[in-house]
Amino acid sequence: MENVKAKVVVITGASSGIGEAAAKELGKCGAYVVMGARRTEKLEKIASEIRKSGGTAEYQSLDVTKLEQLQSLVNFAKEKFGRVDVIVNNAGIMPLSRLEQLKVDEWDQMIDVNIKGVLYGIAAGLPLMKEQKSGHFINIASVGAHSVLPTAAVYCGTKFAVRAISEGLRLEVGSNNIRVTTISPGVTASELADTITDEETKKRIDDIRSIAISPIAIAQSIVFAIQQPQDVDVSEMIIRPTASSASYT
Ligand code: NDP
Repeated sequence: MENVKAKVVVITGASSGIGEAAAKELGKCGAYVVMGARRTEKLEKIASEIRKSGGTAEYQSLDVTKLEQLQSLVNFAKEKFGRVDVIVNNAGIMPLSRLEQLKVDEWDQMIDVNIKGVLYGIAAGLPLMKEQKSGHFINIASVGAHSVLPTAAVYCGTKFAVRAISEGLRLEVGSNNIRVTTISPGVTASELADTITDEETKKRIDDIRSIAISPIAIAQSIVFAIQQPQDVDVSEMIIRPTASSASYT
């Protein structure tokens, strides 16, 4: 596919959900996909499926809370394919609960994965993209970056941060021929709600999540953003179920 074929695309959190769908969709379009996540057995299976359908895929173990692991993934992609055209900062977790429950460890995890993980992806990729004089960051935020609901204060806080960081990055690096896209999915079928440890919240969220779109829809929005001519920056997209009846879905 024009402007996607032979592009080197690094995807964090590629072992399930949106990251997995993006890897497969980009593989079909002829991109060279480089996947990272902690569950390497899943990455191995996804890479082999992509290769069987004629695509190109590599993977490496990744914990996005460690800057050096993101740097290592970017170096791995550069060694394999000579450059990095796109980084999809997708890894995220959503252990929702009310603030009064004081699940401070889960707040810390969300801040580490959802905010620092994106910042570390930027830190790992930016020097190389500046050197190449081209690049593209695609950061996965959420409808939770646009509105808040009870139990989601910290999660939404992390996603508001992703949007703010992405917009700041766009303003700073556009003149270096580096594009920045923020994608905000609504409810999308994936493993995301599995990180909720509070029973009552889990039940409520499972109910809210009963109307969901396929992760392929988000994957296609990623392809759309990459596909545009280099002088066109798709800055923001919100993709949600047609039947969504609340601003946070
Ligand atoms: P999944 O739970 O299916 O996927 C999350 C991915 O993140 C997994 O591949 C997981 O891999 C990875 N991950 C989690 N922690 C780490 C870590 N420390 N280091 C590296 N990878 C990690 O959920 P989704 O596909 O839905 O989530 C993808 C993104 O989309 C997230 O940022 C999420 O917030 C966002 N989003 C999703 C929505 C939805 O309804 N699904 C709606 C709005 C936004 P592993 O465990 O193998 O490391």
